[in-house]
Amino acid sequence: MTTPEPTPRILLADADAFYAQVARLIDPAGAGRAELLLVGGSASGRGVVTSASYAARKFGVRSGMPTATALRLCPDATVVGVPRRACSDRSKAIVRVLENFTPVVEPASIDEMYLDMTGTEGLYGGEALDATASRIRRAVLDETEIAVSIGGGTTRLVAKLAAKRAKPHRAPEAGGVFIVPPGEEGAFLETFQLAEIPGIGPRFQERLAALGLVSVTDALQHETRTLQQWLGERTGSWLYRRIRGVDSTPVEQRERAKSLSRDETFAVDLDEDRDLVRELLRLADRASGDLRRHRWAARTITVKIRDRDFKTRQKSLTLDEPVISDRVIASVSRALLEQLRAKRRVPARLLGVSLSNLTPQEEVDQLSLFEEEGPETGRDRALARAIDRVREKYGRSSLGRGSEQDWF
Ligand SMILES: [Mg+2]
Repeated sequence: MTTPEPTPRILLADADAFYAQVARLIDPAGAGRAELLLVGGSASGRGVVTSASYAARKFGVRSGMPTATALRLCPDATVVGVPRRACSDRSKAIVRVLENFTPVVEPASIDEMYLDMTGTEGLYGGEALDATASRIRRAVLDETEIAVSIGGGTTRLVAKLAAKRAKPHRAPEAGGVFIVPPGEEGAFLETFQLAEIPGIGPRFQERLAALGLVSVTDALQHETRTLQQWLGERTGSWLYRRIRGVDSTPVEQRERAKSLSRDETFAVDLDEDRDLVRELLRLADRASGDLRRHRWAARTITVKIRDRDFKTRQKSLTLDEPVISDRVIASVSRALLEQLRAKRRVPARLLGVSLSNLTPQEEVDQLSLFEEEGPETGRDRALARAIDRVREKYGRSSLGRGSEQDWF
């Protein structure tokens, strides 16, 4: 006899207008009192809106819109910059609260966290999932001052869609929680347009509309085979399952690495600055490659040197923003090495570069999606990732540093 599989119980906690909430809490430029609030860009209209309060959204303001356009639609709005550090700190604080309820918490972005509550029924004395979700919501609010909406169901997809229905501006009566009971996924999905289903982007929507498929209900009329004939085998069967709420992606906890490091003991002690810099840059590239492969970003960069007499010294720099690129990590490492060498200049036996204060990369991408401030630009990140792809395909040596001058 086999034990039946427990029914999956997945929740998504999604912070409501997260950046705007955080901006209100730390209150730059009177943001705390501003009903109409735009986060991102400046009052002179430069930059892009990252987030807007729900009141401002009623004027047609959307994230990703140039701040100048948003101010034309909503001239009385207060504009504040993105409080990135505070957002990152609050996001981590939310995760810590959620981890009190289940060990399996997966931050999907800075303001969205999945929780796998499967098998916790006993732990919560058979409490219904919506009651547990309400307690989670309360705990997050009490401990972090951030309001989240929680959606739930048997899959990630259902939880994600349910969280939209829990949003206070959409459904004030929902109390911030919307759970789809097992078995009701199909009926729930029927209430959506295909454009609302994650994974169905604008181009795909056009293709579907040309086939007369606009709502989920339209698509539910057709067999897998028909959808496959129209859309190809893979896409057809993907859509068939998707519109029935099927999603096999598990919720996965990310292991928190403390640091990543690379070091090298030399066969012969190195004394020339030129040689040390060359070795250092090689180590910095390797460490930053490791960082990106593990999808982390780092705020603290440390350079370690062991002198001929075994005296080990190190120097660190913590940046305002987490970074991932070779360029920034290499240039910071080099500056740190120069400081170490200025203090004591004797032949060295070992060099090391270590990256710590790690944050998931998704979070960094999201925080810097619309901004080009900080030590690292979107171009730096794109370039670093392009280099990784080439190296993956053609091997490490395919793209070395031409000369160090190219990089600084
Ligand atoms: Mg959100």
